[in-house]
Amino acid sequence: MAPPVAQAASVQWVPTSGSWYLYIDGVRQYGWKKVDAYWYYLSPSTGLVLFGWQKIDGDWYYLIPDANSGRAAMGWMTIGGARFYFNPAGESGRMLMGWQKIDGYWYYFEPAGESGRMVTGWQKIGTTWFYLDGSGHQLFDWVWVNGYWYYLSRGPSGEWGGMLTGWQDLPDRGSYYRFYFAPGDAGWMLTGDQTVGGVRERFGAAGGPNEGHWLNYCTSTGQASRTFSVQYDVNSTWNAYFDTARARWNSAGVGANITYSSTAASHMVVDFTSVEDIMNANNGVLAYGVYEYNSKSGTFTIRVFTESLWHSLGTSTNPAWGSWAMGTATHELGHALRLIDNPTPTVLGTYNTSSLMSYDRNRSTLGSPTGYDQENVRRCFA
Ligand SMILES: [Zn+2]
Repeated sequence: MAPPVAQAASVQWVPTSGSWYLYIDGVRQYGWKKVDAYWYYLSPSTGLVLFGWQKIDGDWYYLIPDANSGRAAMGWMTIGGARFYFNPAGESGRMLMGWQKIDGYWYYFEPAGESGRMVTGWQKIGTTWFYLDGSGHQLFDWVWVNGYWYYLSRGPSGEWGGMLTGWQDLPDRGSYYRFYFAPGDAGWMLTGDQTVGGVRERFGAAGGPNEGHWLNYCTSTGQASRTFSVQYDVNSTWNAYFDTARARWNSAGVGANITYSSTAASHMVVDFTSVEDIMNANNGVLAYGVYEYNSKSGTFTIRVFTESLWHSLGTSTNPAWGSWAMGTATHELGHALRLIDNPTPTVLGTYNTSSLMSYDRNRSTLGSPTGYDQENVRRCFA
């Protein structure tokens, strides 16, 4: 280390072992002194120039050693691999801590232990998570981090930036949608089929055009009300199956009141269309029933395809026959109650089996609305 080179004749830097004194007009100087545009700090007791980190009157300063000869750091400086900011306003040079807005960006300088290091990445400050990019700039709004979307809310101040969790209505490309962010410290946006608070929910698939948008489960081709009448007149066996389908919904606690009326405009019928024609009409899927909605009258016709049941079960003496037939009729009435097909997850192409509305349900054992279906009906009519 060497003392600065004095430019004015009245200024003298006088070396001593390991440091030096400053004389101006022959008088030894102490404390803060500005010489040739730089600030130095001279020990108040000895007058020796001090170096490195110094806490002076409650604030931290960095007095640059080596080639800079003890001048006080101003503005940004990297020290020991970390970034610091020494406030140049008013030539103070004091190290800043906490949130600081510098040249239009917010930064966070770790106040713990008076460290003052600029932080990057996720930071939990108080009870809230914030995110700062690799340059230390605080980010706002939608951010994509390690494969997930997060939302950093600007808040009422416009400059808050806290990570949101739970249900949120947020803008996405010019419109508002409802999203769900994992609770607690997680905060990532959910996509695809997920359970939220014990309820199955569907969100737009990852990477898709509606990624993360909460998707309504309810079909617009259901009935206007949960109270409606339906007519059928097949035979004692099928009439009993259809009676059972109505009863299963009426007792499901979803507010349904589906009555039989010989004069109702909506019908339930047994349909004898061939298996081949059923599959041709359904993209190769062997349907057991169908719900046909008449948008002009608001009424419906439910067809149960007895040929499909024959095809799958072989004989009407198969003990599964009644379960499949009643389950099919109950499923189709679910559409009248606004439920869609396959409302549950498609993990690796397999529909979740927890819903009466799922194509992949066990038709021998699942023929009544599950709690999940009940919840969906209540929601569709809420
Ligand atoms: Zn269906």
